[in-house]
Amino acid sequence: MKVVTHIRELKELIRMNQRKQHSVGFVPTMGFLHEGHLQLAKEAREQNDVVVMSIFVNPLQFGPNEDFESYPRDIKRDQCLAEAIGVDILFTPDVKEMYKEKPSVTVSVQKRTDVLCGKKRPGHFDGVATVLTKLFHLVEPTKVYFGLKDAQQVAVIDAMMEDFFFDIQLVSVPTVREEDGLAKSSRNVYLSEAERQEAPTLFQALKRGQTAVENGERDPKRVHQLIEKELLKTSGEIDYIGIYSYPHLEPLQSLAGQVIIAIAVKFSKARLIDNVIFHVPESGEKHV
Ligand code: AMP
Repeated sequence: MKVVTHIRELKELIRMNQRKQHSVGFVPTMGFLHEGHLQLAKEAREQNDVVVMSIFVNPLQFGPNEDFESYPRDIKRDQCLAEAIGVDILFTPDVKEMYKEKPSVTVSVQKRTDVLCGKKRPGHFDGVATVLTKLFHLVEPTKVYFGLKDAQQVAVIDAMMEDFFFDIQLVSVPTVREEDGLAKSSRNVYLSEAERQEAPTLFQALKRGQTAVENGERDPKRVHQLIEKELLKTSGEIDYIGIYSYPHLEPLQSLAGQVIIAIAVKFSKARLIDNVIFHVPESGEKHV
């Protein structure tokens, strides 16, 4: 595995692979790797000649009072994990390499961001879209891998690829969970022991909502109430509970079609997000 910190060096390696007509699978991350990230890399490994992973904690996607400074980092450990899973090129630029000076141009996302994390974290998805535009131009991947744990990110990037004519296939990968259902996340290390015990309630609450819908509930308000009741059992503060169409993220009067239920809960040092996405038959459509 080649570890590359400079853009010039990365471009040289990319050009070399292009001359060999190799397909490139790209896994963008912020590091502190866990099995969620590694699942993306594993799929990239299976489906491409070359796997590129980036590790970059992108300041542009953090708000002024968010955890950019304290975001967990362990580059040595990440290198070992990336190499073991079969990454060929690990790109770990520093902030100055990616943002030489104050940006002249940034990407501004117009749709799919007025709800959920987009609403709660103003500018977050503009920062994500800006850094990914840069990374896509540098890596020129055939396929790019994203986790559905960040389902709104997948929805936003899917729209960006279409609007900006990126000729890259987006592969979305189901959320990888701990045995007790907690979605794997770099931020889980910031849960206290007591909070870690409570954290599986997030997924249980989502499943409770999904089961109610599968049993015939179609009113998003009632599903919302059910989930809220579950989440109030934890010591965390509910940041949002949202039920929308997916991937358009539009409100629904009555649940039908592809639906996402997404939640965010703030614990003392970590804000956790999770979601379920499932199909709700239109009235008259048969259950299969
Ligand atoms: P991050 O380092 O948090 O920016 O995540 C990098 C990529 O890994 C994103 O596409 C995430 O959606 C994905 N990811 C993070 N956690 C998980 C998980 N538990 N399961 C699947 N993918 C994940």
